[in-house]
Amino acid sequence: MPFKYVIEHMEDNLHEWCILEYCHISTFIPTSNIYFTNISKDTESTLLAIKTLQGANFFTNHIIDLNLKKDKICLLDPSAKDILKPEDGNYFEYFLFGGILGDDPPRDRTCELRKHGFQTRSLGDLQMTTDTAINVTKRVIEDKVVIDQIPYIDFPEIKLSIKESVVMPFRYITVPHPNKSTLQTTTDELKLNLVPLLPEGMIELLKKDGDMAFEF
Ligand code: SAM
Repeated sequence: MPFKYVIEHMEDNLHEWCILEYCHISTFIPTSNIYFTNISKDTESTLLAIKTLQGANFFTNHIIDLNLKKDKICLLDPSAKDILKPEDGNYFEYFLFGGILGDDPPRDRTCELRKHGFQTRSLGDLQMTTDTAINVTKRVIEDKVVIDQIPYIDFPEIKLSIKESVVMPFRYITVPHPNKSTLQTTTDELKLNLVPLLPEGMIELLKKDGDMAFEF
């Protein structure tokens, strides 16, 4: 039985950031295993019009109203006391995430899902974006990688132009630099030729949004 990744959309609007993050998820999880819940019909139409999201599953219901076996659902929750381990894949079938845009300081909106009493696991103390949290969960559960062995960068500072940069207040997975000319960080990881794994189009959106980036 393939693992399913459930994103309970919790933003009032479908911000461009959400779209980029949701599309990014489909680059490492087959869309048939991606479930979006609490999605209005309008939002569903918008997302389904995006080629990479075709085949994903959309529900207007909240996760709690889908009548899934509760003990098969694991909520990824930064405040959980247990860290996600590869063995958790033996018990859970659904991994649930808040479709929440990261904010600084974190507002703990994941509590709206916690109140349903799902079992919870943490991916560490630092806030990740939803797409990063799903990627880390996939690596732990499917690729059986222990969480500490995933390469990370915390709060990367990303240069947007010669004069401007923005600090992303999140933990990201790092990947080898694809093309030095388009993305530069000012952090030590650059020396190692590693960069944060960001959704395609995020740098352009950051340039457009500027200082408004984390004030949702
Ligand atoms: N500040 C946010 C909040 O209000 O809870 C964090 C939201 S985070 C951007 C979106 C989702 O990714 C969370 O709801 C959670 O499911 C998952 N997530 C992010 N970082 C996590 C971590 N360190 N441990 C477990 N889950 C995490």
